[in-house]
Amino acid sequence: MASRFTSKSSSDNSLKESIKEEARRLGFPLVGVTTPDAPEHFALYEAWLAAGHHAAMRYLETERARVRRANPRKILPEAQSIIVLAAPYPNPKTAPKVRAESSVGKVAAYAWGEDYHEVLVRQMRALVAFIEAEAGRAVPHKLYTDTGPVLERELASRAGLGWIGKNACLIHPDYGSYLFLAEIFLALPLEPDSPFEDDRCGSCTRCIDACPTQAILPNRTVDSNRCLSYWTIEARGEIPEAIRPAMGTWIFGCDICQEVCPWNRKESPITMQAFAPRAGVPRPVLMEELALSPQAFNRKFKGSAVKRTKRRGYLRNAAIALGNAGDPSARPALQNALLEEEPLVRDAAAWALRRLDEKVNEKEKLS
Ligand code: SF4
Repeated sequence: MASRFTSKSSSDNSLKESIKEEARRLGFPLVGVTTPDAPEHFALYEAWLAAGHHAAMRYLETERARVRRANPRKILPEAQSIIVLAAPYPNPKTAPKVRAESSVGKVAAYAWGEDYHEVLVRQMRALVAFIEAEAGRAVPHKLYTDTGPVLERELASRAGLGWIGKNACLIHPDYGSYLFLAEIFLALPLEPDSPFEDDRCGSCTRCIDACPTQAILPNRTVDSNRCLSYWTIEARGEIPEAIRPAMGTWIFGCDICQEVCPWNRKESPITMQAFAPRAGVPRPVLMEELALSPQAFNRKFKGSAVKRTKRRGYLRNAAIALGNAGDPSARPALQNALLEEEPLVRDAAAWALRRLDEKVNEKEKLS
């Protein structure tokens, strides 16, 4: 069978274009190609690790992970190109309005729908099937979407998808930064696209100024020890008391440094329905979340990225958010949470009750 690989150059280019077309059809409006060459940002990444800015995420510092981040060819020795893909998730401006008698919390927009790890891998597999059909043979490959040791944002920028903003997110001039990134390492030569050379942040510092914990460092990296996304998702233990008030009502992740970014003013519609918000996820009623049983938590977040924080982490966050909301009607729910089996939740509830009292006293003094 004649394959697209039997003739050279111009057909390579037409193959690349048809892959891009198929990627767009599969819901990736942004797609580019880069080489598996070593990333320039690796030294910066090493310095970030050396400074301890990865907090307790020890898996980032293993020898295996570092070797692979330093050299993408260690991931797939026969790799000749990397296809980088991006798909939008909802802009938080589109959060469904919630009419509730009591306080609501906030969940980062990337986690409103189905778990992106599952959705994007499914779509990437479909793209690989298309490539292999075009090739008329199996093509060795590896798929990534925040699932392994890959400096994804550099690869995306190198493939022409945007620049790395001061908030450390990849930003595309039309799509902004509410984007999932995914990569296909491929044993197939494809012409690399031109890198995105501009830095369009200019003199803006809105994200740095808006971050409630000053987590954004001057070199476009984030100190996880201060980042609310880290504390509300990755941290398994107690959240330091110094961080808790800054959480406000965020109970899973944080979108602040993206919400203030002028490149996110425009709302880019989602291209994969799987990322549409599930009922009750984006702005949940906090007291209801604090009362979720293990079964109810599993039911609500089956196939959702929110499961990562586990029920105890999610309820810990909900309790802290209730304290920060200063809503006196939350007192019975928090007192109930003092009887929880999970010590993490009991500790957060006790803190939240004290915080609530402080807030109520402050309000009374002002009135
Ligand atoms: Fe860049 Fe301003 Fe956006 Fe921060 S808020 S990423 S500085 S454009």
